[in-house]
Amino acid sequence: MSQFSEYKDVIQDGDLALIWISRDNIKPVKIAAGETFNTRYGSFPHNDMIGKPFGSQIAVRTRGSNKFGFIHVLQPTPELWTLSLPHRTQIVYTPDSSYIMQRLQCSPHTRVIEAGTGSGSFSHAFARTAGYLFSYEFHEVRYEQARKEFEDHGLLRDGNVTITHRDVCQDGFTIKKGNKTTFFDAEQPLDQQDVARVDANVIFLDLPAPWDAIPHLNHVISQDSKVSLCCFSPCIEQVDKTLEALDKHGWTEVEMVEIQGKQYESRRQMVRNLDDALKRLRDVKERKQVGVERRKRMFNKLISDQEEPYEERPETPKTQYNPFGKGSRVKEGDANFHWKEVAKVESEIKSHTSYLTFASKIVNKIRDEDRAAKALVDAVE
Ligand code: SAM
Repeated sequence: MSQFSEYKDVIQDGDLALIWISRDNIKPVKIAAGETFNTRYGSFPHNDMIGKPFGSQIAVRTRGSNKFGFIHVLQPTPELWTLSLPHRTQIVYTPDSSYIMQRLQCSPHTRVIEAGTGSGSFSHAFARTAGYLFSYEFHEVRYEQARKEFEDHGLLRDGNVTITHRDVCQDGFTIKKGNKTTFFDAEQPLDQQDVARVDANVIFLDLPAPWDAIPHLNHVISQDSKVSLCCFSPCIEQVDKTLEALDKHGWTEVEMVEIQGKQYESRRQMVRNLDDALKRLRDVKERKQVGVERRKRMFNKLISDQEEPYEERPETPKTQYNPFGKGSRVKEGDANFHWKEVAKVESEIKSHTSYLTFASKIVNKIRDEDRAAKALVDAVE
């Protein structure tokens, strides 16, 4: 069973762990007894991790200093994988993938087609939620890398993922005997049937030319249930061509959406009023006056040839905290001051922000009463 879909409590030899070094530095590591994970904050023996619960903080003393370096050893999830995976292409980030999956109503009843696989970011999210994922990639090196990664992550034979090496725009989605694919069905091996049963009811196309893939979909989509589709395209010109193809091939309920992920930082800000401003201005004016007079006296002493023209600066009491100027720092929320809650938008959020074009199709619109009754029973159970 894949570590991405089943939680484990304890870190074991051979597990994949995602090591959190900092918010933007998470490293995937295969835990192996005797090995060491090296960072610039220190070297962390895997043996110190084995046997500890996932989520544990591991500390080592930094060499030549009295300080400690920390890491956290985390259980892999599709969301953390998206933040730590080796990039081979542009990837779909969680703000987009989570929205797309809920719009496409992904569930264990869903059979998904995804093209192309790319770096496998979205594939991991689909694999956790959907019943089955058929992923297609035409770039041979990327296909092999993704195949190996899916195998290492337990997504292939024991899991619910098939990856096929294919140009879907040219050759469509049908999986036949002799194709370069990981498709495996113990009950219906590919050599005992002409083609694999795909029967997809969710389609996700992250391709430069989805309009060339759309005409091939009819052969592999469910014929008797609603099929939902999403195309992920960075340019509006691509959306335009996709809309044309969807219309031509009988897709309906077409809608285009763009996700603009924003992260808000919430904190308290001191409320400053007019009295504070006036107090600050009076303070500045008084100090300025004292300074001008001191300098005037020093000048007069200088021109009357007095021996010691310089005057010590007068001792002024340490400035009380002044909300409009410098002074001792006040802790956020200090009860002596008045605060209000504010939210600030964090500018740096990872999202590819492509245009998402959604559509749906029902091939066979005849109602099958027996199936409908069974579906109702299944839904209640
Ligand atoms: N959604 C992926 C992820 O989250 O990691 C990223 C997909 S990447 C942007 C697009 C991928 O589609 C590339 O790896 C490319 O090789 C593949 N591709 C492009 N045209 C294709 C085609 N006609 N058939 C199959 N794969 C294709």
